[in-house]
Amino acid sequence: MKRLEAAQTEVLDAVGVLPVVEVRITEAANLALAAPVKAPHDVPPFPNSAMDGYAVIASDLDVLPVELEVLEDVAAGSVATLGVTPGTAIKIMTGAPMPRGADTVVPVEDSETLDGRVRLLSGRPRGANVRAAGGALEAGEEVFPPGVRLTPARVGVLASLGISPAVRRRPVAAVFSTGDEVLSSDAPSLPAGAIRDSNRPMLLNMLSDIGCDVRDLGIVRDDEAALRATLAEAADTADIVVSSGGVSMGEYDLVKHVLSGIGSVGFWKVAMKPGKPFAFGSIAGRPFFGLPGNPVSVFVSFEQFVRPAVLTMMGAKHVFRQRIAGTAVADIRGDADRLTFVRVTIERPSDGATLVRPLTGQGSNMLAAMAHADALAVVPAGLGVGEGGEVELEMFSWPEGRSREEALTWPN
Ligand code: AMP
Ligand code: MG
Repeated sequence: MKRLEAAQTEVLDAVGVLPVVEVRITEAANLALAAPVKAPHDVPPFPNSAMDGYAVIASDLDVLPVELEVLEDVAAGSVATLGVTPGTAIKIMTGAPMPRGADTVVPVEDSETLDGRVRLLSGRPRGANVRAAGGALEAGEEVFPPGVRLTPARVGVLASLGISPAVRRRPVAAVFSTGDEVLSSDAPSLPAGAIRDSNRPMLLNMLSDIGCDVRDLGIVRDDEAALRATLAEAADTADIVVSSGGVSMGEYDLVKHVLSGIGSVGFWKVAMKPGKPFAFGSIAGRPFFGLPGNPVSVFVSFEQFVRPAVLTMMGAKHVFRQRIAGTAVADIRGDADRLTFVRVTIERPSDGATLVRPLTGQGSNMLAAMAHADALAVVPAGLGVGEGGEVELEMFSWPEGRSREEALTWPN
């Protein structure tokens, strides 16, 4: 049996990075930057008002209330034609450029309009409610290093800078299921001995979640010719090929056999639970992941191998999940010889603790329990974790947010 870390190292050493392309920012979601991004200009590009109010000279506010002549109105998107001089103000909207001469904005709430004049009721320190040019980002500043994945907020930042980033191309992933017993999930009924295909929809979803374009190659019978044809098609149309089933020790477990004919394959037993059987190889230079058949094993193997491999191909720096420590609220049993990923829920009471509860139904076929989990508890071989003990967690899905009722009763 291979240790998990050794298997992961071998997989990540074997996958290459995809070519660098420049993409429009609206096409960049989830991709990783291939080069550092520097700000080509200040953000904001010009000093502007943070409030609707009056642009004034702060020293005019020394004695209050004060009446000032209103020279003009300036809306966001236009530029004042006049400058503010002592005794005058310009009415200004949020986001409008500060007029020449003005250094402070008094919010409209603290004013009374008169005919052609304004009475300001309260003072403000110089610079109040003015956003400086470059206050958020300065021209020339490094905004993101390479390897950063583009989250929605990062997409927004690059958009504010007018940048079409250099990224590694979006990977194309082909997915198929294997097994004579496996029927499409939309099968109207199940004949004796058949089950519905849960792996393929789950894998397609997991792959698109991390930023892949996906190709669905359906379900392949346990038949050498059919498998050979699908593998060839997959390698032809995709950067990475992922299958489920057919990699254990049964007579109909043909994936590794077929693959060794047309590509190269390592068939591994990885010292982890679930997900011990695992085929990894390449077809026509494309990495191939032959995941086990049981759906929980598929999920865990995807997390441990496919996700880090895809992120590596994308050029991402952080390819493994964040781990945090939690406290077991019940015994969490592991396996004597294998690293065990236990499906757990997380609770975070207001005292800051992270409480970890193992779910019932840890069988590798029991996807429903998996679906209730927030995290995989990483339990070293040979040791369980007793109640009150500390356990490491891989957070693949933080607990659901608050309901309306909880939001109302929790302090903000
Ligand atoms: P295998 O490794 O092909 O023998 O599959 C192991 C177990 O996983 C068997 O019980 C299969 O019926 C089940 N299985 C295989 N593929 C799928 C699938 N796509 N969806 C749900 N269960 C599956
Ligand atoms: Mg099978």
